[in-house]
Amino acid sequence: MVERFGYISYLSENVAFHLDFTNIFILTIAIVNAILGFTIYFKNRKSITNLSFFLTLMAVVFWGISVAFFRGFSDKETILLFYRLAFFFGGLISFVFYYFSLAFPYDYYNFNKTQKYLIPLPFLVLAFISLTPNILVIDVQKIPDTENILIFNQYANIIYILILSFYFVLAYYVLTKKYWQFQGNYKDQISRVIFSTSISVIIAFFTNLILPSFGIFNLNWFGAVAVIIMSVSIFLSIIKYHLFNVQIVATEIFVFVLWIFTFVQFLVADYTILKITNAFLFLVMLIAGLLLIRSVIKEVEQRRELTNLNILKNQFLSFASHQLKNPLAVIRGYAQLMLENKDNEDKLINFYKKITNKIDDLLNLIEIFVNYRKIEEKKLDFKFELVNVVDLVKEVSDGIKILAAEKNLDFSFKTSSEKIMVKVDPLKFTQVIQNILDNAIKYTRSGFVRIEIYTNDDTKEVIIKISDSGIGLDKNDKLKLFDQFYRSINVKNYIEGSGLGLYVAKYIIEAHNGKIWAESEGINKGSTFFISLPLS
Ligand code: ADP
Repeated sequence: MVERFGYISYLSENVAFHLDFTNIFILTIAIVNAILGFTIYFKNRKSITNLSFFLTLMAVVFWGISVAFFRGFSDKETILLFYRLAFFFGGLISFVFYYFSLAFPYDYYNFNKTQKYLIPLPFLVLAFISLTPNILVIDVQKIPDTENILIFNQYANIIYILILSFYFVLAYYVLTKKYWQFQGNYKDQISRVIFSTSISVIIAFFTNLILPSFGIFNLNWFGAVAVIIMSVSIFLSIIKYHLFNVQIVATEIFVFVLWIFTFVQFLVADYTILKITNAFLFLVMLIAGLLLIRSVIKEVEQRRELTNLNILKNQFLSFASHQLKNPLAVIRGYAQLMLENKDNEDKLINFYKKITNKIDDLLNLIEIFVNYRKIEEKKLDFKFELVNVVDLVKEVSDGIKILAAEKNLDFSFKTSSEKIMVKVDPLKFTQVIQNILDNAIKYTRSGFVRIEIYTNDDTKEVIIKISDSGIGLDKNDKLKLFDQFYRSINVKNYIEGSGLGLYVAKYIIEAHNGKIWAESEGINKGSTFFISLPLS
């Protein structure tokens, strides 16, 4: 190891590596990014969002290493190799980031055919021109103590920039679209991703692609440092439903800069005493920084909790004023009609039925809201019992038959066995079935509503399938059906509902270790809801 003018150079026989401050910076950030990537990946290996973010970060890591290496090595062939790799990994970032933008923030996502087969094609071109010698990267001029001057083919460079921009533009298009679609936590997460990645992308695009196109290479390391803003920020937004909160982000950036600064101080200290002191300082900063971030997050979370309670209160007030008011007005109307028709027995019976139906609706609605409130306050308790699930479903279905008949819907109930024993909370489970059947009737104008119960002996589950020939679901509905307050735009304005039933249903079924999902061929092609529960 040779030290001169504050630089440290590692020399072997013919390859020398120049570890200046900038390279220490870049490599430290690469290590931090790798740690963040693996943490995210191991946190939830099944999640496509986590996997695609992990891959994006790995591309960032290898890009950073390539940048440090083309800056650090002195052998020309080695430098050229790392320039080619830097171009390749830079392009890879844009490519994987596009898939991340599609998957984020879901755990599961099905890529369509275009996304699977067509969109990767330009990347193959990019990989080819980046990696093959003498296409994009032609030659390099190494000047001591300053950045290399790269000689590259302008045309290949334009193609490269176009392909890379293509993926970034697509990714931001997808993310912005999602930003407008989502609400609440997701919206926060998406805005954080858009904000932080675009800062890093714009910086890196400018310093590593635009400036070099004009022969300016002095800042070609800056992009590899700026990516830290993106990685830390996305990391935090995936790890928790992290808030896009200026106070937290500012603290995180502040602490991070402090860490890197003290760490570099430790690395470059040349006396043992100084090294030990700096190592100690770094450790103190590490702990103090973590405590600081934690306390700021806690404070902001407490504030948010108060806001959430306030929102819940407002939701209840609006629920009481809208959802309850309408059915009560209808009931009042029928009561008036009963008075006006007190001598007509048929009409009286008819109005009486209508009133009881409306009251049942109201009771269900209140039950859903009570459960919703308990879920939000984490106070929903379950009393599990071993029961015959066929009896439970039959009971609800008998009650609902009349409603189906009133709408002239063909109603059927089928079961593969008369007795299927499952451990459930009978009251809550019945509410779920009631809600799904209510929906099936509510969202079906004509045709049928069918219930089927059967067991799957391989997976040891009972499956309750409720299908209808109603208004169906589009792609967007299928993704968000079980979110709180979600209502399809097809129904929002002319069919009453709270948008809470399926959210509560999902919570209850998952508390039973079961699953609930919906399938539909599209709008006006009917829907099928499935509930599966483990057999006892
Ligand atoms: P709501 O009170 O609005 O029915 P839910 O949570 O029960 O609330 O349902 C959420 C949304 O899912 C509904 O607003 C509707 O858009 C859609 N939906 C639920 N069930 C069906 C169904 N059987 N057919 C079509 N759309 C449905």
